Amino acid sequence: MPRQKDGLPVNSLSGCVRPRSPEGGEDGTISKKAAKKAEAKAKKEAEKARRAAERAAAAAASGSQAQTEDLAKDNYGQETHETKLSPDVVEINLKTLGEEHVGKKVELRAWIQNARMQSAKIAFVELREEGNWSIQDVVAASPEGTPVSRPMVKWVGSINPESFVVVEGTVQKPLEPVKSCRVSNYELHITKCFIHPAAPAVLGMTLAAANRPIANFSDEDVPVDQGVEKLSIASAGEPAGIPAASMLTHLDNIVIHKRSVVQQVIADIRAEMKELYRFYLRYHGFKEFQPPCLIAAASEGGANVFRLPYFEKDAYFAQSPQFYKQIEIAGGRKSVFSIGPVFRAENSNTPRHMTEFTGLDMEMEIKKDYREVLTSSFTCSGTSKERCADEIALVRSVYPSEEFLLPEPGKEVRLTFAEGQKLLREEGPEEFRNKYNTDFYVLDKFPESARPFYAKEDPTNRKVTNAYDLFMRDQEICSEAAYQRPGRAGGADPHQGIDPASPGIKEDVDIFRGGVPAHGGGGIGLDRVVPWYLNLPSVHLAAFYPRTPKRLLP
Ligand code: ATP
Repeated sequence: MPRQKDGLPVNSLSGCVRPRSPEGGEDGTISKKAAKKAEAKAKKEAEKARRAAERAAAAAASGSQAQTEDLAKDNYGQETHETKLSPDVVEINLKTLGEEHVGKKVELRAWIQNARMQSAKIAFVELREEGNWSIQDVVAASPEGTPVSRPMVKWVGSINPESFVVVEGTVQKPLEPVKSCRVSNYELHITKCFIHPAAPAVLGMTLAAANRPIANFSDEDVPVDQGVEKLSIASAGEPAGIPAASMLTHLDNIVIHKRSVVQQVIADIRAEMKELYRFYLRYHGFKEFQPPCLIAAASEGGANVFRLPYFEKDAYFAQSPQFYKQIEIAGGRKSVFSIGPVFRAENSNTPRHMTEFTGLDMEMEIKKDYREVLTSSFTCSGTSKERCADEIALVRSVYPSEEFLLPEPGKEVRLTFAEGQKLLREEGPEEFRNKYNTDFYVLDKFPESARPFYAKEDPTNRKVTNAYDLFMRDQEICSEAAYQRPGRAGGADPHQGIDPASPGIKEDVDIFRGGVPAHGGGGIGLDRVVPWYLNLPSVHLAAFYPRTPKRLLP
């Protein structure tokens, strides 16, 4: 008897496998019931095959791709060292995209801001570069299945937002301007798309929420019910459905916080102001120097210093570069400045305070009058307006503010501390602003009890000092003063409990025993100038990584 491959006997007449099922007869013949079943099955198979053939024919006729092989499989997926774009591709940035790129094959590296499937054959994607430069992208399946196949469309259309991709595509003009993207006159028709490890499907904070004004600056975790209440207050007048997030949520999701355009432009304005400060002082002949951060004793003898183990001794983080600026003057410089970190171990949990901030400090020789000391922050603010007009407008769209009012250069409002206090108390800040038409003013002649021992007293009134503060939108941003050594009352400061013979202070006092010109200077907190200029609700928004008594991360 013939045998089939697996060794089973084959019925010589029918060619059927001898049935083993109970439906088969004892002699190996097929029962009627089994035969009917087999027939029905065969019919079903034949029908299935017929339909598949029909589908294939229809697909071939309409020119659509075969379902089996993905002809575009090399044009998308995870980026690897083998990923290749076309050799003639032009690298672009959205900011500089122009008519010359239309019709060209280009390469763009960007974040997926949004991806959605329009149909099985087409997906729309928004790609975003630094800032809010975004462009609409189309991924459409080609009739031939390459360079873009339907599986590729599905894959691109399903990429998680905030994933980073490298795409190749052709720049085209959309039928009408794309309102949702900053680049509205061009779109990209993607032919290749490779992804760096994808962003998680669920983010701790969405970019839309990160672009909303921050709802709450408390360093404490807010109970959920309270948090919702605060968020809804902050959401008033904002687009519905996008909840604002707290500063804590922002800092816990630092990368998305940084990707928000408002944070990026605040950082740009901050950088610009810092540069303006440097430029302005260099222009006026000031020399830059670098004071140390690690010092042997509390810089101003105060208690607000961070102490750290330093080999067998203790060291401190400098709470001001004051002494070092003065050493530079004593060392033969006419005018100096420094830009660097300043540390304050103050347990102040307010929107005005941080434990680390950037100090813009300057010191200069005084020839005749302590008022010669430059009020440089004033000039920096004025120039920022021209240099950062777009950025300021963008910040205002999230954190509304009125124009920062500045008087004519050289015509700043300067009142004595006593006068200013009286006016502000009696008339209020708004009246004060209307009266003087300024958001920047100087309060001079601070009481000697409110100034460090080395601030020079007013020779005509020993109760006050030749020291003043600069204010922006009614907030102090800078303390300036004329200085003297060894200081009032021979260097001892009864108000601050400083002993001129104490370690650290003594060495500094000794430097100024003689041969030092009269000098004065000041310290501006960059982290305050920026937010008060922009009318932001907290200094924490202007700092890159705010440090507070409760926050050392990230
Ligand atoms: P405050 O009274 O607001 O705490 P201060 O009088 O101690 O400030 P100064 O010692 O005069 O401030 O410091 C000079 C400048 O440094 C201030 O005008 C401010 O711009 C900035 N500054 C001081 N302390 C802080 C802080 N904790 N966080 C951020 N900036 C600060």
